[in-house]
Amino acid sequence: MPTFDYAPAPESRAVVTLQPSYGLFIGGEFVEPVAGGGMTTIEPATEKVLAEVAVADERDVDLAVRTARRAHQRIWSRMPGAERAKYLYRIARIMQERSRELAVLESLDNGKPIKESRDVDVPLAAAHFFYHAGWADKLDWAGFGPNPAPLGVAAQVIPWNFPLLMLAWKVAPALATGNTVVLKPAETTPLTALLFAEICAQADLPPGVVNILTGAGATGAALVAHPDVDKVAFTGSTEVGRQIATAVAGTRKKVTLELGGKAANIVFDDAPIDQAIEGIVNGIYFNQGHVCCAGSRLLVQESVAEEVIARLQARMTTLRVGDPLDKNTDVGAINSQEQLTRITALAEAGEAEGATRWSAPCPLPRKGFWFAPTVFTGVAPAHRIAREEVFGPVLSVLTFRTPSEAVARANNTPYGLSAGIWTEKGSRILWMADRLRAGVVWANTFNRFDPASPFGGYKESGYGREGGRHGLAGYLKEAGL
Ligand code: NAD
Repeated sequence: MPTFDYAPAPESRAVVTLQPSYGLFIGGEFVEPVAGGGMTTIEPATEKVLAEVAVADERDVDLAVRTARRAHQRIWSRMPGAERAKYLYRIARIMQERSRELAVLESLDNGKPIKESRDVDVPLAAAHFFYHAGWADKLDWAGFGPNPAPLGVAAQVIPWNFPLLMLAWKVAPALATGNTVVLKPAETTPLTALLFAEICAQADLPPGVVNILTGAGATGAALVAHPDVDKVAFTGSTEVGRQIATAVAGTRKKVTLELGGKAANIVFDDAPIDQAIEGIVNGIYFNQGHVCCAGSRLLVQESVAEEVIARLQARMTTLRVGDPLDKNTDVGAINSQEQLTRITALAEAGEAEGATRWSAPCPLPRKGFWFAPTVFTGVAPAHRIAREEVFGPVLSVLTFRTPSEAVARANNTPYGLSAGIWTEKGSRILWMADRLRAGVVWANTFNRFDPASPFGGYKESGYGREGGRHGLAGYLKEAGL
């Protein structure tokens, strides 16, 4: 009997050259942290150590902020926008040239499938630099008044789910508007940020314009608390977002917070069901569900619920879970033991509270951190899996009867980052979009990103927007100041 199994198709990891250890990127070069020592970053798919990275403390933070301030005053704020644009453009081109290396490194350090890092993370990161290169010399005509001025030094702290892409969301608008930056990547995924530091040097970016400090929460806290920082841009959990909002309250620092989510993906009975199934899968199993705007609550109209769930489960049995570097892999490794423990605990709570659990029957590798794509049916709005962000490949299904009930259920969350609507009626899409309290509403698609489109949340999903013209505003002084 012929079989139609996929043969392994591994991407070569030889395209990446890892150093045994990395310092801090300050003033255009790698330097040792004042205290010495460091932490390791591991490959979540195998638990093997990839490299040692430095841990920055207050003294390193102070040096980096002072360096960024000098670069801002002496070079970057004085440079015409057209000249800044050239650097952004050059960085974008080098990211494209080194895209294979960036993609492999991202998949190694994060655990995400190579087809996602190759086709989504890296191209979108380069697109952010291209897009913002275009803005750098047009700020006078962008509706911010004449001569809009940069804020100064931006402190930027990012999470581990899209390490390079979140870096691009932060660094590109900051540089385009004439700010200099000190960025801290997440402790479990520092490697593409360090390769980005190398790219900045390769692009001859003036020293000190971009500084990268590795470390954990304490490094991030020291950075946002530094008195000479003008802007704090944070992406991460709502809990840490709250701490940061408290830390900067009463200071002159401008803040944007991109926090968690619990998005509703709403399927009406007139939706193109095959397309909707792909959208549901993409909404929650893309990037192992480690997506702030993941469609983690499926709201399906009662009359088609049975059919949608049956077709979804059939589709889920075809998902290939495993080696992130295999080009056929759909779902990779969970980023850390800590995150796996959290996902496992919430899935157990779902069962204990009475929902019905179904997981795709897929073999999981023995070593590393893995969680099979899972769907819960019979979920009540009060269940923890309906309220809390799982940040993993776990979908909760709820039903509704009328559009008004769909809106009420969708908005019944402290978050408000994104939502999806599946229906063939344009009028219904507009009616729903008007009523959904979510920063982004996708219609008949999900998880679409574009640098020209502002992204951000309502309620506990944060404030401020990134991307588009709105994203530039967060890095400019208000008119008249
Ligand atoms: P996290 O909040 O634990 O960590 C994010 C970053 O903050 C890391 O770099 C961490 O070292 C740093 N940090 C931790 N404590 C800090 C402190 N007290 N002060 C300053 N920095 C500190 O989040 P995570 O687990 O890395 O990421 C997952 C979360 O990020 C999820 O909740 C997800 O929804 C959210 N997220 C949001 C968006 C968005 O655009 N809204 C995008 C991606 C991820």
